[in-house]
Amino acid sequence: MANTPDHWREWVTRLPAWICPRCKEGRLKPAENAPVEVPTASTKAGRQSPDWEPDWDEGVFSAIMICDNEKCAEAVTVSGRTSVDVDFNHEGHPFLSTYYKILFAFPSPVPISMPIHTPDGVKSALIAAAGLLWATPDAAMNKLRQAVEAFLSAEKIPSTTTKKPRGRVRLSLHCRITRYGETPKGLPLASALLAAKWLGNAGSHDDGSASVTRDDVLLAFQVVEHVLDERYSDRRQKLLQQITAVNKKKGPVRPTRRKTRVKPPF
Ligand SMILES: [Zn+2]
Repeated sequence: MANTPDHWREWVTRLPAWICPRCKEGRLKPAENAPVEVPTASTKAGRQSPDWEPDWDEGVFSAIMICDNEKCAEAVTVSGRTSVDVDFNHEGHPFLSTYYKILFAFPSPVPISMPIHTPDGVKSALIAAAGLLWATPDAAMNKLRQAVEAFLSAEKIPSTTTKKPRGRVRLSLHCRITRYGETPKGLPLASALLAAKWLGNAGSHDDGSASVTRDDVLLAFQVVEHVLDERYSDRRQKLLQQITAVNKKKGPVRPTRRKTRVKPPF
């Protein structure tokens, strides 16, 4: 069970059934009477005009979503904008649909799964990026860049170096990735980290231009997920152990069954 890119589409007709950010088992469902929708002031005023078209309506919404895992029942608050557009049913008849653009979600679902051994610094940067993704993709991309920096620190790649005559200076992210790529662990991951860095650079333009899209951020999340999965997931390690066992036995390996002891009736 996983979230998919569809759960992060920009405009949706239904609030996405994300995986619960707390228990990672349940799905989030809108609470009773959610979402609450209110038209904007200009929409209310515009409706008085005889020229007003229903699909010009715009508004705001808010909703509480609850995890459907009864043992968890986490509550998530979501809010944003609404817009109305014409859709067509199976028979080609037009009808009006309300579309929601989520601009805020707390606690925010994270688009990727993080292996249990992911370092805390990486986790917290990814959670912060997920929260910023809705309204400011550029800021989310900066947090993802920080996640990559935190990953390299956890891999013991220094963040500074000594240079004459300036003394200790900061190493660029590019330089740190290059150094990591020169290690046996980092060799297969350096190109993915470089891709995350290039995507992150696009989020660092300070001229105010909207240089990063939500899709760019989602791609950067997936790149980081690949790196974390390769480095911290025990799935790969378990598979390698199974490959070794099969080769040793030259065939399938069955789990050894223990003889069940019958307890005496006392
Ligand atoms: Zn939950």
